[in-house]
Amino acid sequence: MWLSGGSNLRIKVEERIDAVPQLRFNLLPAAFEHVHGDARLFAVLQSHRRIVNLRNFICRKQTHSIHHHKICHPLIVSPSENVHLVPSRSAATHAFTLELVPMTSDLKSSSTTRDLVILGSGCSGLTAAIYAGRSNLNPLVLEGHEPGGQLSITTLVENFPGWPEGIQGPELIENMKKQAQRFGTELRMAHLTAADLSAHPIRLTIGAEVVHTRTLIIASGASARWLNLPSEQALIGHGVSSCATCDGFFASGKPIAVIGGGDSAMEEALFLTRFASKVTLINRTGKFRASPIMLERAQAHEKIEFLANTIVEEVLGVEEKDVKGLRIKNTVSGVESILPVSFMFLGIGHIPNAQAFRGMMDLDEDGYILTKNDVYCTLNGEVLPGVYACGDIQDRRYRQAITAAGSGCMAALEVEKYLEEHGR
Ligand SMILES: Cc1cc2nc3c(=O)[nH]c(=O)nc-3n(C[C@H](O)[C@H](O)[C@H](O)COP(=O)(O)OP(=O)(O)OC[C@H]3O[C@@H](n4cnc5c(N)ncnc54)[C@H](O)[C@@H]3O)c2cc1C
Repeated sequence: MWLSGGSNLRIKVEERIDAVPQLRFNLLPAAFEHVHGDARLFAVLQSHRRIVNLRNFICRKQTHSIHHHKICHPLIVSPSENVHLVPSRSAATHAFTLELVPMTSDLKSSSTTRDLVILGSGCSGLTAAIYAGRSNLNPLVLEGHEPGGQLSITTLVENFPGWPEGIQGPELIENMKKQAQRFGTELRMAHLTAADLSAHPIRLTIGAEVVHTRTLIIASGASARWLNLPSEQALIGHGVSSCATCDGFFASGKPIAVIGGGDSAMEEALFLTRFASKVTLINRTGKFRASPIMLERAQAHEKIEFLANTIVEEVLGVEEKDVKGLRIKNTVSGVESILPVSFMFLGIGHIPNAQAFRGMMDLDEDGYILTKNDVYCTLNGEVLPGVYACGDIQDRRYRQAITAAGSGCMAALEVEKYLEEHGR
């Protein structure tokens, strides 16, 4: 594996990486305090592969936990990949060393059996941890490839109850983490790679370690699909969003673009007409996958304009930290132009993070977990003892922080009940 950096970035390759499925990187900023003035990672780590898979793509400004003066983030890459570290403007003057710590292939088995492991540190996982922690279950939370989940990549959250002026997404998540830790939760920067749910206790493979647990809460969310342009990633929360319900209000009176051609793009575009002065729907092909009724509804709307055979090449406004427009290209004529919009919404779907459970539990046709009575996981319709799911991984309808947190609470209460009935 080779590493390369942006123009002002020095990267030292510490080790050659052998055939390991998971790496952890420690990013050591030279000017630590300065760079972390606002506790954000000002670097963008980008993993390129022929078919870009969002799960392998960490390319965001994001709050990171800082342990021993290191920022740790598990990076899932295959040995043949190239990894580029792209500094943002703010980081350009600082030197970083990137230390790659390969996971060994010898699995180490932990000697104790946990009461509860929670997969995911988004608002559903952390709410589950708060409840379970207060019941003395000392849950282990695996932070996964998106520590803090989706709220950690957004800016102002105005619809989470209790914050009349709104709260920054990363701050809300940080508060939840502190609250969970206060009641004995252990947070670990780790990613689940395999699981055996038929074993009792349940067997989880986490990097090089095997962890046994009596119960499991899957709160692994569904990652939004992005275009994966560096400028797009830099502007998430600053005019780029994948959640119309969450951020539509901020687009009030502004011209916006929606990317996509399926039902979710049409739904987003129609919803956003309530706020935006104009909605331009951009689709890379000339063919829209949306159902005829949704397509007709969008086409009939006076505020929606369709741009087919068009791709976005760059989101403008990175320096200003605010979307100023899109550089677009017609894929047929090759002509480039600037579309003056103030917001870009992605409507190209989500990737449910339940791949590790395929064949072990009931999933729907898109890979979301099908639950019974809200949070019980099942196999062929039969409840899987001790296995629960909450948040966006089992809810493709509401996808909100409060609903995710609510189901996290429900899952934790079910765990308590299960452990009471089956003995700890
Ligand atoms: C840009 C944006 C803005 C938003 N704004 C708002 C808003 O203003 N208000 C609102 O209510 N909602 C908002 N949402 C929606 C809200 O963020 C989600 O509904 C919520 O985060 C779902 O929480 P979750 O815990 O289910 O999943 P997520 O937040 O997606 O968290 C999933 C967690 O699982 C972990 N994980 C995944 N796979 C593994 C694995 N194999 N091993 C270990 N861990 C794993 C990830 O690392 C992550 O920590 C927004 C979403 C986006 C994308």
